[in-house]
Amino acid sequence: RFIALEGGEGAGKSTQARLIADALRARGLEVVTTREPGGTRGAEAIRNLLLHAEGDGWGARAEALLFAAARADHVEKLIRPALARGAWVICDRYLDSSRAYQGGGGGLSDADLRTLHAIGSEGLLPDLTLLIEVSPEVARTRVSLRDVDGSDHIGGREAAYHARVNAAFVRFAEEEPMRFVRVDGNGSPEQTRALAMQALEVLLPE
Ligand code: C5P
Repeated sequence: RFIALEGGEGAGKSTQARLIADALRARGLEVVTTREPGGTRGAEAIRNLLLHAEGDGWGARAEALLFAAARADHVEKLIRPALARGAWVICDRYLDSSRAYQGGGGGLSDADLRTLHAIGSEGLLPDLTLLIEVSPEVARTRVSLRDVDGSDHIGGREAAYHARVNAAFVRFAEEEPMRFVRVDGNGSPEQTRALAMQALEVLLPE
């Protein structure tokens, strides 16, 4: 089974990836946790290029191509092999982040982003995508506690960009209600995990 966690910065995706993985392992399942951009050596190298861009940074098009290239490596070398041997894969961000950031935020067309995904990763989609939603205030507080050095270039975007990203995520969830579950991430990590596990229940073996 392939589960993606999506949401804006400070939603708590990486914490949930860990907590959900622990809960699934406690049921005896093999779980691989991974993240985007990254997850393999090649994709982590691209992540570095993306997050620490020289000069004035990447345009949305170059960014979309780099994300698609990173995902292609990640899918081919890590995600597909893990799924093929029956493991669960919990991925912190996936295709819908490209659609929300480079599409909703950066203005690229959703059709183009889907085409890039079709070429790069043969269109592999998660069985379930958990959209973790938090208020802008909660997101801001969590991010300010985390990014003390502000070294993440891509993190320097204006509030309007993030508002477009969040609106895009909600739109995707509404468009594909079978693939998405919206999860309230404003509570404690444990509360959010309980909601996420409820959403996963349908996929769990007896
Ligand atoms: O998941 P995490 O917050 O570590 O993501 C790293 C950075 O990459 C974030 O600043 C996020 O906004 C950005 N990102 C992006 N486009 C994507 C995925 C992530 O701009 N498709």
